[in-house]
Amino acid sequence: MRKPLIIANWKSNPASLKEAAVLARSAEKSAKRFRGVEAVVAPPFPFIPAVSKILRQAKLGAQDAFWSGGPYTGEVSRQQLKNFGVRYVILGHSSRRILGERDDAINKKVKAVLDGGLKAILCVGERKRSGGKGIPTSAILQFKKAVKGVKKSQLKNLVVAYEPVWAISTMPGARPDTPESAERAVKHLRQLLSHIYGQKSVGKTKMLYGGSVNAQNIKSFLVWPEIEGVLVGGASLNAVEFSKIIKNSL
Ligand code: PEP
Repeated sequence: MRKPLIIANWKSNPASLKEAAVLARSAEKSAKRFRGVEAVVAPPFPFIPAVSKILRQAKLGAQDAFWSGGPYTGEVSRQQLKNFGVRYVILGHSSRRILGERDDAINKKVKAVLDGGLKAILCVGERKRSGGKGIPTSAILQFKKAVKGVKKSQLKNLVVAYEPVWAISTMPGARPDTPESAERAVKHLRQLLSHIYGQKSVGKTKMLYGGSVNAQNIKSFLVWPEIEGVLVGGASLNAVEFSKIIKNSL
């Protein structure tokens, strides 16, 4: 049976270390209880040292990583993150793209994270709902640019999250994508990978959906064959809700 990958992206939350510890303890408890789930918690950088001491069964994630250490004010490198046991790094999240992060920077970060032996969670997604049946060109372009130069042998450490921006809970008028449409998009992204790397190599890359996932709707996404997990923003900030998400993903 496949192991659903459930990633909590706290973004710039919560405000205090105390609250972060409460959330992390609860996620760890659920991850221990439901070992059939791969749970990942991605706190803001300042909470990583404390959260790393709490997580054992749940894995530690980061929300970004710069492609190098050195003279880069305000940036955090993959090597620094590895000191705390970070295993996953979210890259190309729409909230960073909206603030100006560009495809070439995302591509450099994806390669750096993979070269460092960490798992890269690459987020792609269109800003506006297209209403069409296929995945919009903007998401395809983001994807192609981000994976340029990634080696075939690194595909096992690549995770792709299809996150249509209009479905992200903090966007005005947000509502989740339909599971059918998310499945189609994710399938399309896997086909693109298959064109680049060949059919045999792409099974190792995990494909996720993200956008207004909660304890009620998670199952409706995970029943589809291509959707192997979810990226959860808002709902991961509520300890009870996130525990239910982990439970309901089995
Ligand atoms: C996200 O920002 O990655 C996300 C999926 O957020 P939410 O679950 O709140 O829609």
